[in-house]
Amino acid sequence: MTNDPTMTDAALTGQQVGLSPFDNGYGFVPAVGTPDPDPDALWLVFQGDRLLTVGETVPPRPAEGLTGEVYLGTQQGRQVWAARMTGDAPADQRFSRLRGLYGKLPDWLWMLGGYAYQIVEWDRTHHYCGNCATPTERDPNERARRCPNCGLSVYPRLAPAVMVLLTRVGPQGQPQVLLCRSPLFPPGMYSANAGFVEPGETVEHAAHREMYEETGLSIRDLRYFDSQPWPFPHSLMLAYTAEYAGGEIVPQPGEIEEARWFDHNNLPQLPGRASISRRLIESVVGPQPD
Ligand SMILES: [Zn+2]
Repeated sequence: MTNDPTMTDAALTGQQVGLSPFDNGYGFVPAVGTPDPDPDALWLVFQGDRLLTVGETVPPRPAEGLTGEVYLGTQQGRQVWAARMTGDAPADQRFSRLRGLYGKLPDWLWMLGGYAYQIVEWDRTHHYCGNCATPTERDPNERARRCPNCGLSVYPRLAPAVMVLLTRVGPQGQPQVLLCRSPLFPPGMYSANAGFVEPGETVEHAAHREMYEETGLSIRDLRYFDSQPWPFPHSLMLAYTAEYAGGEIVPQPGEIEEARWFDHNNLPQLPGRASISRRLIESVVGPQPD
């Protein structure tokens, strides 16, 4: 991790704005350490996975009840801090699940909230060394916690997941996409197939394996689309398209309730615009109404 603000301009030129607080244009520069908090600092305060909000933004630092304060860096020059809070939300303020706040907060704030949540949760759950159970300490120079006894370092956790939108030409020559329903989805909603990358796998291997395990289908011509941090709780979603290469649909029990081919002009309810799955699907079938 670098604290050099020129990195954002030099290294990220041309990157699309909208998927990460680190995107060029949002002006967020990560940093570690414990500076004195500025009076006008931005505070992202959590209770579990719920963010403290007031109207369409976040309130100033609450006067009491904060714990686990962590400095995240600066947003257009303004300090950004995150913390957890015990007790009730102050009057006129509320804790809301971050996921449900998409579209209600400005995009930059929602994405910064996702980043803050991952760091706060990681910090909260790594207070003791996993090797010798000694209390760990924050590293002053990088985003890590270190054991003063045995030297073990722990870094924020990231779980890569791969998503594949499978395409084919249907029986009447019409273009189709394969969409699946997880039992966890809201009623009527379908999405592209996704699963976690296992230790030892390449992302590409995981793409083939997940599709075969969950739907019984083989794929070819895997093409990278884009990636998106998904802080629920600490995924990095890597999205691909692929062509159908054979097999009959056999949904994996417990994982996939239904998998079906859909014509582009007859789609079911799709995921919301906060997720990369929506953009992946629209990149193939064209823009869809909400
Ligand atoms: Zn240790």
